[in-house]
Amino acid sequence: MAHQILQIDAFMSEAISYPFDESPAYGTTREVTDGVHWLRMPLPMSLNHINLYLIEDDHSWTVIDTGIRGEETRNLWHDIFDHCLKGKPVDRVICTHMHPDHTGQAGFISERWRAPLYMSYSEYYQARVMSTMMRDGGNWQMNEYFHRAGISTEVLEQMAETRSNFAPEPEDIPLPASYIRLRDGEELTIGGRSWIVITGSGHSPEHVCLFSPDLKVLLSGDQILPVITSNVSVQPTEPQANPMQDWLSSHEKFRSLLPEDTLVLPAHNEPFYGAHDRLQQLIDHHEDRMLILEEACVEPMAAIDMLPLLFNRELAGHSLFMGLGECVAHLHCLMSRGRIERSLKDGRYQYHSIDPTLPARARPGQHEAKDDEPILT
Ligand SMILES: [Zn+2]
Repeated sequence: MAHQILQIDAFMSEAISYPFDESPAYGTTREVTDGVHWLRMPLPMSLNHINLYLIEDDHSWTVIDTGIRGEETRNLWHDIFDHCLKGKPVDRVICTHMHPDHTGQAGFISERWRAPLYMSYSEYYQARVMSTMMRDGGNWQMNEYFHRAGISTEVLEQMAETRSNFAPEPEDIPLPASYIRLRDGEELTIGGRSWIVITGSGHSPEHVCLFSPDLKVLLSGDQILPVITSNVSVQPTEPQANPMQDWLSSHEKFRSLLPEDTLVLPAHNEPFYGAHDRLQQLIDHHEDRMLILEEACVEPMAAIDMLPLLFNRELAGHSLFMGLGECVAHLHCLMSRGRIERSLKDGRYQYHSIDPTLPARARPGQHEAKDDEPILT
């Protein structure tokens, strides 16, 4: 399949540089640094690819993330197994986090090689819960969460019909029935080198990154991406959550731990240098988004009515729920800082500004450009 370059976000920085001019074609690998190989798999959405990685050992390979479920990615894995592994088996499958583009083929690869799955505790169990939720219909908790954010009953009913589209097919092999737990700060030896587990939170609950001090390489999953902004959403399963604060704190953590000249190998876009600048850009981006919402909340507003402040397009279907989850994540962070409050009126939360310092901080008309739509990462 032809590879398309992703051009979603024009927000680029000269401080970020890309050492590789070409990504590997599907079904092939490219060695990016000693023993670390990059491969790509397609995704059936506007974000059209995921980067996966293989680390070579003397007698085996470690797989980092696995691609989305389905025949197309499975067949590409067969190509990789047949032509790129130098006759050595896979003996370890690591998934950075629970999202389906990362875990979709974990069962298949684990079964094929009898290789154990390595994940953090929260990600493994959330992945198992998510796979059953996809088969379920709606529930009152989910309906209440979205209704309070401003979604109509009619749209909620339409959503219940489309949710089954995400349910696994019978031929998809489920997530392995056991796993080996990865913990923050733990050291693994892969390819004769030490790799340190560094966890982040916000995009998913206990996202694993792997850092090699020898190579100054970070396998970053969706925790640090150079171009697109990872989705950070409040989910109906935890309607009071504050993932944005976790996300911002994680960015500070990674800035404090990573050397500035780290080569970042992300799950989307291209490998890059400039992690510190990118992390600061993302912190600034979310702070700017929060200020936009805070300025708007001078008059009480429902979350759904704030979406046009964040996104260029009118959102519908899955994008609507993703965008709303992102909007609520920013609002909850503002609430935790004591800058806005909310009250329930006619079944919807109305958010309003309560911080007397807002007029001094506000800068209407001087914000970053809106996003086209939320990106499913
Ligand atoms: Zn993700």
